[in-house]
Amino acid sequence: MNFQLSEEQQMLVDMARQFAAQQVAPGAEHRDQTGTFPSDLIAPLAEQGFLGMLVPEADGGSDMGYVNYALALAEIAQACASTAVTMAVNNLTASAVATFASAELRAEVLPDLCSGAGGQVGAFALSEPHCGSDAAALRTKAERDGDDYIINGAKQWITNGSYASWVLVMARTGEGTRGISAFLVPGDAAGLIVGPEERKMGLKGSNTVPLTLENVRVNQRYRVGDEGIGFRIAMDALDGGRIGIGSQALGIGRAALVEAARYMEERKAFGQPLNRHQALQFMIADIGTDLEATRLLMLKAASLRDQGEPMTQAASMCKVYASEACCRAVDSALQIHGGYGYVQDYAIERLYRDARVTRIYEGTSEIQRVVISRNVLKGS
Ligand SMILES: Cc1cc2nc3c(=O)[nH]c(=O)nc-3n(C[C@H](O)[C@H](O)[C@H](O)COP(=O)(O)OP(=O)(O)OC[C@H]3O[C@@H](n4cnc5c(N)ncnc54)[C@H](O)[C@@H]3O)c2cc1C
Repeated sequence: MNFQLSEEQQMLVDMARQFAAQQVAPGAEHRDQTGTFPSDLIAPLAEQGFLGMLVPEADGGSDMGYVNYALALAEIAQACASTAVTMAVNNLTASAVATFASAELRAEVLPDLCSGAGGQVGAFALSEPHCGSDAAALRTKAERDGDDYIINGAKQWITNGSYASWVLVMARTGEGTRGISAFLVPGDAAGLIVGPEERKMGLKGSNTVPLTLENVRVNQRYRVGDEGIGFRIAMDALDGGRIGIGSQALGIGRAALVEAARYMEERKAFGQPLNRHQALQFMIADIGTDLEATRLLMLKAASLRDQGEPMTQAASMCKVYASEACCRAVDSALQIHGGYGYVQDYAIERLYRDARVTRIYEGTSEIQRVVISRNVLKGS
């Protein structure tokens, strides 16, 4: 068994780290303080191939696979968690289209999503005001009208919603989970109404909005895959997406470790730098162990996905462990900062706020445990 990255993977990590340090990190605090969406980074991310990492080259992507995607995304997240989730949701949307859409639809949509055309990105609209965890309870309806569908409903918490070239919308075309279909709705479609930005605790540079669909008319060619497979598309997309949230959490956790280590060196208590106090050294040991376990779970899930192996359980283990480890890491790192951790003068305050949502979106920790326990009890 070899735990080393290949030469190519290490080159990608180095490239992503340099890009993140030079282009993403410098604006992170400003994006957080002002709630500014990283519009200026969409074209540079596309130039690196980071918007279409899970899309075949023939469809306009960079086709780097999940392991490389997870490694690169962690570097972006370490620099700015808001930029990372913007990138992650674009990749999730693009990969679902690449996997399930017709050749004609792929040719129309994927070049936009992979190139960040017009500074816009993709969005994935599953959650509704009345349901998130129980996504199959969604009520948005798509009714057939000749060659078109007319879509009506409300979507909630849609990342990238105000800046979307395309929104992948899950809507009901029948009863039950087999009565859900997926549609690509152009961001400028008549009747697609973008609501006000959510006033979030963290990830303030990312865009989260409710979307209302009022008689949105889309031609049937914008249906992704057959009628009735929308729930399967959504669950498959989330399996991949959970690797992305795992790597986002890894990036935030690493940033917290860097901040803690830096602070421990400069601050003294009882005549000694903080890093000489064993109680704090032990906190660092725990963060380091948590982050390494996260990295291994992330790489395992990503590698299974790249090999086309079943990975639902691995994705859930990665997501729940990574997000909870990340929250432990930011909490300890903030504690190490003492009172200074509680004010905005130090980056750890932002990291603490950014971390929290990783336990909620793309399936809460409780939902991951539902998935894991179901699989563990089956003996898989
Ligand atoms: C910043 C942000 C961005 C988001 N981006 C997107 C997006 O781009 N697209 C999208 O579709 N959605 C998005 N979401 C929605 C997100 O996926 C949901 O918030 C999440 O799935 C939880 O759903 P809920 O908020 O409706 O909580 P609920 O489902 O109402 O859950 C409430 C609580 O009950 C628990 N719970 C529910 N069912 C069970 C159960 N069976 N067993 C044990 N506990 C349970 C949950 O874990 C949670 O603690 C985003 C959310 C946020 C906050």
